[in-house]
Amino acid sequence: MSKAITHVGELVTWEPDRPVRHDAALVIVDGRVAWVGDAADVPPADEVIDAGGGTVIPGFVDSHTHLVFAGDRAAEFAARMAGQRYEAGGIRTTVAATRAAGEVTLQNLARARMAELRAQGTTTVEIKSGYGLDVDTEESLLWVASQLTPETTFLGAHVVPEGWTADDYVELVTGDMLTRCAPYAKWVDVFCETGAFDADQARTVLTAGVAAGLAPRIHANQLGHGPGVQLACELGAAAADHCTYLSDADVAALAETGVVAGLLPGVEFSTRHPYPDARRLLDAGVRIAIATDCNPGTSYTSSMPFCIALAVREMGLTPTEALHAATAGGAASLRREDVGHLRPGARADLVILDAPSHLHLAYRPGVPLVRRVLTA
Ligand SMILES: [Zn+2]
Repeated sequence: MSKAITHVGELVTWEPDRPVRHDAALVIVDGRVAWVGDAADVPPADEVIDAGGGTVIPGFVDSHTHLVFAGDRAAEFAARMAGQRYEAGGIRTTVAATRAAGEVTLQNLARARMAELRAQGTTTVEIKSGYGLDVDTEESLLWVASQLTPETTFLGAHVVPEGWTADDYVELVTGDMLTRCAPYAKWVDVFCETGAFDADQARTVLTAGVAAGLAPRIHANQLGHGPGVQLACELGAAAADHCTYLSDADVAALAETGVVAGLLPGVEFSTRHPYPDARRLLDAGVRIAIATDCNPGTSYTSSMPFCIALAVREMGLTPTEALHAATAGGAASLRREDVGHLRPGARADLVILDAPSHLHLAYRPGVPLVRRVLTA
């Protein structure tokens, strides 16, 4: 089965020599990009989709979400906007609602959020556990996530639950909880932050995850100059996410090790914190990804276009750099070669925009430009 997308005003493929084409076409065979080139040269195909002069981009790769949860923290957001400070403990509110919800409800909620993401152009999504904080609920959250995406992350070490010491809880996370969750997870993650887990506890969690066959990623340097980024570099993690507060040594370590810096501007928007300096990272040669961090406490957006607009307005990126970080950057963060670009061989995960160029993603913030989403 072949499909040709013709009359593409602008086609973003991220080919090294020609990342953006004009008056282009693209042919898909069996779910993979088989050909890209000038519209005039398009080979015949079983089905033809007319892009109407619009823009075709790779589907967004959202490399950081917490989609499986129950409950609502809108009141907490409103209080914060009225001047209250964000601290890591708010996670426990969602834990109580999530434990009480039951698996079917959680599954329905997560499915609805997936549909919301997809409607906004996201075709690959990472989903973390972390609102169970007990063995049964964490396993259940990962099972629900594994029905929705192959990019599942065990985040039992999200925060220390009520009634536990950090050390006892780390023992549970790296013991029974890991054993039960690992079959449904690809990644292991930890919230390394004051009020959550320190460097030694985070190292214990990640190395135990690696021993169980999971690959490490980390929540790091969100609320202050913590040790998380250095730990990510020490362990060869795929990504260090947040990266809001970085020393020069942190930036140098990221550049040297190739750990992807995941930037989550929805968080700074929703907590009124200073944004990470994406310009500084790119100029130092650090690979960056932009993701939503979709979660009920600090960033309840599922919109990658919104995050792109924030990254351009607040983090020093050009619209093209921001789109690259939201597609190819996300793919690098998840160590995926087959998504985040539209070079021949890529999965045919793509978005047709009602816009003459990809610049409109940042130029027209809040406007629903996604006309159609195709997946392999
Ligand atoms: Zn997160």
